[in-house]
Amino acid sequence: MNMIDPFGRTISYLRVSVTDRCDFRCTYCMAEDMAFLPKKDLLSLEELDRLTTVFVEKGVKKLRLTGGEPLVRKNIMHLVRQISRHLESGALEELTLTTNGSQLSRFAAELADCGVRRINVSLDTLDAQKFHTITRWGHLDRVMAGIDTAQAAGLKIKINAVALKGFNDAELPELMRWAHGRGMDLTVIETMPMGEIDEDRTDQYLPLSLVRAGLERQFTLTDIPYKTGGPARYVEVAETGGRLGFITPMTHNFCESCNRVRLTCTGTLYMCLGQDDAADLRAPLRASEGNELLSNAIDEAIGRKPKGHDFIIDRNTRRPAVSRHMSVTGG
Ligand code: SAM
Ligand code: SF4
Repeated sequence: MNMIDPFGRTISYLRVSVTDRCDFRCTYCMAEDMAFLPKKDLLSLEELDRLTTVFVEKGVKKLRLTGGEPLVRKNIMHLVRQISRHLESGALEELTLTTNGSQLSRFAAELADCGVRRINVSLDTLDAQKFHTITRWGHLDRVMAGIDTAQAAGLKIKINAVALKGFNDAELPELMRWAHGRGMDLTVIETMPMGEIDEDRTDQYLPLSLVRAGLERQFTLTDIPYKTGGPARYVEVAETGGRLGFITPMTHNFCESCNRVRLTCTGTLYMCLGQDDAADLRAPLRASEGNELLSNAIDEAIGRKPKGHDFIIDRNTRRPAVSRHMSVTGG
C-alpha cells in the first residue's frame, strides 16, 4: 500500500500548503502586489482533512502544514485538531508546521495540545528595522513574543533563515548564537528561483558553501548524521553546542533521497518543488464520496515523480525555474 516512485523512493512525507495568502510579503518570496488564488478554488478544511487522511492511509508518516502563512487560514486549528486523530491512532508519526511566527502567541498552546511537538519558524534577522525591510509587513517584536509563547508551551523550535547576500550574511553568527542559546536549531537555506519577485535574484543569491566557509573561520563545525526527515544536512557547532543545518538546493542536489510531495490549497499535487508537473486531486476528490478515484489519482501522480529539479540562478537565466511562488507550494 506504500507509495513508491519510479526511482524507488518511498513517499512518506506530505507538505500541505493550506493557503497561499500571507500577512508578510518577504522580498525573496513574494512580489508586494501579489495575485492570490481565487477563494472559490480553495479546498474546504473538510476536503483538506479528507485528502490528508487518504495520504496517511497510503503511508504518509510525517505531515507539515505550510503556506503562505498557515496560521492565517480561517479556522486552521479545526484542521489541526482533525488531523491530530491520526497522531493518536499512531498512523501518523509527526504533525508539524512552518510559520512566520506572527500568530504564534495566539495559537502555540493549542498546537501543543493537538500533539504538535516541533515547529519551524522562519526568521532571517534579529534587527527590527531589517526585519521590517525584508518582510515588508512584519514586526519582529510579534514574532519574538510568538517564539516565547511557543517555547513556554513546550514546542521545540527550529529557526529557518534564508541566506541573503549583503543582507544577513554578516549577521548569521549572531543569529546562530541566539538560536542555540535558546535551545533552538538553526537551518540556513539558499534562495530558490521560484516565481517573479520585484528584485533580481542574482543579487540575493548566496551559495551556502560560502556561508559555511565564513562560519568555519569563527566556529568548529563537525558533520553529523542527524536527520529530521527534511533535506537539511547538519553540523554540530562546538562553541555553542547547538546544531546548524544547511539546505542547499542550488549548490548540492539533494533529490536522490527525496521522500516528499506537496499539496496546494486547491488540491494540486506537486511531485517536485522545482518542476511544473502537477496532478489535480480536486476533481477526483469531488467526483465521488468514496476515496478510490482519489487513491488512483495519487498513485498515478507518484508514478511520474521526477528524478529531481534543475534550479539555476545566474545572469543568463533571468526567468524563475518555475513560475509559481514558494507560497503556493510552501517551504
Ligand atoms: N509563511 C511561512 C514561513 O515563512 O515560514 C511558511 C511558508 S514559507 C514559503 C516557507 C519557507 O520558505 C520560509 O522559511 C521562507 O523563508 C522560505 N522561502 C520562501 N521563498 C523562498 C525562495 N524563493 N527560496 C528559498 N526559500 C524561500
Ligand atoms: Fe509569507 Fe512565508 Fe513567503 Fe514570507 S516566506 S512572504 S512569511 S509565505
